[in-house]
Amino acid sequence: MYFEFVGGNLALDFANTVHSHGLADPRDDLKTGPDLMAWGAQAGLVGERDREGLWRRARSQAGTTELQRARKLREVIYQLFAGVARAGRPAPEMLDAFNPFVREAMTRARIQKSGEKYELGCDHRVRPLDRLRFEVTRAAMELLTSGKLDRVRQCSGETCSWLFLDTSRNGTRRWCDMQACGNRAKVRRFRQHQSSDRKA
Ligand SMILES: [Zn+2]
Repeated sequence: MYFEFVGGNLALDFANTVHSHGLADPRDDLKTGPDLMAWGAQAGLVGERDREGLWRRARSQAGTTELQRARKLREVIYQLFAGVARAGRPAPEMLDAFNPFVREAMTRARIQKSGEKYELGCDHRVRPLDRLRFEVTRAAMELLTSGKLDRVRQCSGETCSWLFLDTSRNGTRRWCDMQACGNRAKVRRFRQHQSSDRKA
């Protein structure tokens, strides 16, 4: 499967593995442990070295449990940032739902050397699928504390629920992806225009 990363933040990209969230016909790209692994690999969170053993694990019962946990985190992130896109700030109850994931991530965090600098990272002994959850949680934490919440948007596409960070200079981006949702909206407007012309 090919995943798209158009959110501008890893946590938003993770939330975007559900299409048309809350609409009549939602679609979930993460149906199995291996789907989750494939997403992690495309996101660059799962190294070559890890993959072999991981595919086996992803297919196992443990993989199913990890998938459930990851999906739970994903739903909290979606609700959190869809609320931000709507109201400019997260709902207090969604912050309450997110905080246990923050605490879990912090138990796995450590300060480590990276080149000449030191940075907060995930303990290397943490299993890759747990690390995936760590990195997604960290991305959500960073966004929540970034002062950029006024730039979190939800796509204006009719059947699209994707979240993204608007990094355009004037902050007027409306679509997750101009090529996909933006063009669809344009075509629709064009057709509506044509048919109203015909009626006139
Ligand atoms: Zn869209």
